Amino acid sequence: MLVEVIGFGLAGACVALRLQERGVEVRVVDDGKPGSTVVAAGLVNPVAGRNFEPSRDVRAAWEDALAFYQDLDESLWHAMPIKRRWLGEKDRKKFEKKRGVVDWWIDEVDDEGVTWKRGGWLETRRFLEVARGRFVENGGAFSDESGEAGERIWCAGAAGLVREDFAELPHRCAKGEILTVRVPGWGEERILTGGGWLIPLGDDLYRVGATYDWDGLETGPSASGRERVEKILRGFTSLRFEVVDHVAGVRPIIHRSEPVTRFQEGKGWMLNGLGSKGVIFAPAVSRDLVEKVVSEAGQRG
Ligand SMILES: Cc1cc2nc3c(=O)[nH]c(=O)nc-3n(C[C@H](O)[C@H](O)[C@H](O)COP(=O)(O)OP(=O)(O)OC[C@H]3O[C@@H](n4cnc5c(N)ncnc54)[C@H](O)[C@@H]3O)c2cc1C
Repeated sequence: MLVEVIGFGLAGACVALRLQERGVEVRVVDDGKPGSTVVAAGLVNPVAGRNFEPSRDVRAAWEDALAFYQDLDESLWHAMPIKRRWLGEKDRKKFEKKRGVVDWWIDEVDDEGVTWKRGGWLETRRFLEVARGRFVENGGAFSDESGEAGERIWCAGAAGLVREDFAELPHRCAKGEILTVRVPGWGEERILTGGGWLIPLGDDLYRVGATYDWDGLETGPSASGRERVEKILRGFTSLRFEVVDHVAGVRPIIHRSEPVTRFQEGKGWMLNGLGSKGVIFAPAVSRDLVEKVVSEAGQRG
């Protein structure tokens, strides 16, 4: 069986490698445009959000993700504690009610906030390079054009959702802007969240984000976006900073950050909607999708 994968962002890379794990021949068609994966902060925050509500099946997905990325290259995943600051007394009370549900992720709780363990971030841009290398090493091929294939799996990200590649799939794609800043002498070594997020990169550099905008998706980095991210940064530190980079991208969102897989007659399969938790969920969801594709192709003979 030959499977064609369309798009080689986080979703396409995971699907292509999972297919190869199952011994399937794979061709990837990618248009070379930088997708969301190139811009993403790669944050691995299993209890993200204001409600201290872990996503469904997040623990199993986290375990799959760690094993998958480390097998590719141990240095891609930076394990780091996440300090989630309290956003007021109400927020803290909300946490106390949910404490039992999020217990597996708690390292410590103090007056400043809760520290999550098992957090970190993935170098998503370098992940794509490493995945590309592994895919080719395993005998995979890239092609500029779509061709004959037994099955086709669309992993086209926000571009595919906006284009409405698949029928009846309303999207909620959101533009996001991120700054890389230098804050001399700060020395913060934890990921900080609560009213935005901040990731220490080393050498006084930090990534900070992110904005959420549902209009003007393709408008790129903006002055208002920069202003809003600088405000997030000032919520974390009053130290002086210098902006060294500013990027924008579009998160592929269908329903919250819940990935969607589906089959459409005449079109093929798809994996999309990875949203803000793509790094955690892509390895598990792509494995499950590949099992389905391979087993249904087998049944059809
Ligand atoms: C500002 C920002 C911050 C983010 N932060 C995080 C984070 O901290 N943690 C996290 O987990 N996620 C984060 N995300 C989300 C994450 O980037 C996505 O979940 C994930 O990268 C989506 O991967 P994808 O493969 O579906 O899409 P993409 O990375 O967009 O890849 C799709 C690829 O398919 C190509 N393509 C589309 N159509 C075709 C076609 N017809 N033919 C050929 N090729 C095609 C596109 O050009 C693109 O290269 C963030 C996103 C943004 C924008």
